[in-house]
Amino acid sequence: MTAEPSSHTALVRRARRINRELALLYPDAHTELNFSTPLELLVATILSAQTTDKRVNLVTPTLFARYPAAADYAAADRDELEKIITSTGFYHAKANSLIGLGQALCDRFGGEVPPRLRDLVTLPGVGRKTANVVLGNAFGIPGITVDTHFGRLARRFGWTTSTDPVKIEAEVGALFPRRDWTMLSHRLIWHGRRVCHARRPACGACPLARLCPSFGEGPTDPVIAAKLVKPGPFS
Ligand code: SF4
Repeated sequence: MTAEPSSHTALVRRARRINRELALLYPDAHTELNFSTPLELLVATILSAQTTDKRVNLVTPTLFARYPAAADYAAADRDELEKIITSTGFYHAKANSLIGLGQALCDRFGGEVPPRLRDLVTLPGVGRKTANVVLGNAFGIPGITVDTHFGRLARRFGWTTSTDPVKIEAEVGALFPRRDWTMLSHRLIWHGRRVCHARRPACGACPLARLCPSFGEGPTDPVIAAKLVKPGPFS
């Protein structure tokens, strides 16, 4: 037997142990965007680009009340819509996406959000990341959401060396059963926000330290590291 299969097996085993530890750490991990329908989650996810979930959650109650259906976005008055979403940033582009989204949903999908990746990615403002968020959280269809936290942690765990979201999605997806994909995404994002930050990860206070090949990338002193942990919530 060559070294490759056994090292792959070891990688899979360690990856799944990390996932189990994360499940114990974050039993309640979920998307931090507030929504009650697939359309609301799609809209909230589009708005979350370049801003925080918390900021999005501040504008969506007004937005969802004003535009309850795809047809309402399609017919939206641009100035009024932009005014509501201004605080999420990039509001011209986001308003374009939301109006275009409403039109595309009405023209091609009977006003409903389609539950398929290949349809979702044809919608304005919707890439694979957004599509997988909606599939996993609004439709219960497993999806890996590669955002900045997910990519960074996957590299730190040695699950991939890539910075390309599509490659990361494929390489990490191959390590886990499909049914684990959505919760794995939430857990990595939660750990990235709270402990394993881009700069100065809290290694000395990290419950995954003994499993993580990147232990030492941040301070290992428990007292210093504990101060770096952000407890959340982020919504
Ligand atoms: S040990 Fe450090 S690098 Fe590894 S997951 Fe924990 S905080 Fe991140």
